[in-house]
Amino acid sequence: MFSYRHAFHAGNHADVLKHTTLIALMKYLTQKDTALTVIDTHAGAGLYRLDGDYTETSGEALEGVLKLIAPLAPPAPDAKPRKPAVAAAPEVLAPALQDYLNVLKALNPQFAQTGEAAHLKIYPGSPFIEQQFLSGRDKLKLFELHPTDFKSLAGNIEQLGVGRQVTVSREDGFEVLKTFLPPPARRAMVFCDPSYEIKSDYARVSACMADAVKRFATGTYVVWYPIIPRPEAHDLPRKLKTLAVKAGRSWLNASLTVKSSKLTTDTAGEVIRPGLPASGMFVINPPHTLKADLQLALPQMVAKLGQDRHASFGLEHGG
Ligand code: SAM
Repeated sequence: MFSYRHAFHAGNHADVLKHTTLIALMKYLTQKDTALTVIDTHAGAGLYRLDGDYTETSGEALEGVLKLIAPLAPPAPDAKPRKPAVAAAPEVLAPALQDYLNVLKALNPQFAQTGEAAHLKIYPGSPFIEQQFLSGRDKLKLFELHPTDFKSLAGNIEQLGVGRQVTVSREDGFEVLKTFLPPPARRAMVFCDPSYEIKSDYARVSACMADAVKRFATGTYVVWYPIIPRPEAHDLPRKLKTLAVKAGRSWLNASLTVKSSKLTTDTAGEVIRPGLPASGMFVINPPHTLKADLQLALPQMVAKLGQDRHASFGLEHGG
């Protein structure tokens, strides 16, 4: 059941979309005077080493965060002008992407000084991103089931010395969510980021979100989902949209595609699977600022991370 380890994927293109969106949400939601409860149902280990065994083996950060921060290669002097596969990469990053880099800099002092990819050693998972934005009155509740990741998360959070403001539990995030809704000060953001390694995760996400919206209609609910050729994956954003519309809540759906999802073959005729080509973030009750934040950031993610002519983004909203 537990073959998924986020360390293999830390800093990939899905994390760039996921964490840029999460930062934009946290930045807005923690500006208010009333206490915010943040519930992260699938927290992971909290921190990942980009020079560690897992991330180095998979190399996924190379196609994600490391590509985002890489300087633009100057064109070869004799290069002929040609139609680019994706839009030209930007010189100045959008504010939401700058905020993402600032979060990385806070954990990587040497990277903050030099801006060099080689100095980006630590990659923050969602718990450390959320924690960076909390003020004294806010609470962060983290859930992680994997025994090893739970242990790493608990240890990483303990080192922050933030006491009871951040709690870590080895419980099923889908199950426990209902016990925290509605939250004491009636302000909450829920981040639901399963690994979808079991098919039933898709149905559990929609059931869990439907129940949560019933219990506490004004919370901000954030779901990451993979865009892969699988019926359950295809249906999930549609189900979430139906749920939001039926409940009379506003919603936003942002997606990032970096390459084609088609299978290809190598010279020996072996089938090559493309890996994860795209993913999305669905938000119920998004802050009014989120659309504008992503409208600037998403085209830049495509320009920087796009791998072929299928690279694109989607941004829809309603309610
Ligand atoms: N949210 C993290 C981040 O952005 O850094 C990454 C989370 S990773 C995609 C999903 C995590 O959920 C894995 O670490 C996995 O062990 C954990 N997990 C799987 N099923 C779970 C469940 N029912 N409740 C809580 N955690 C679960």
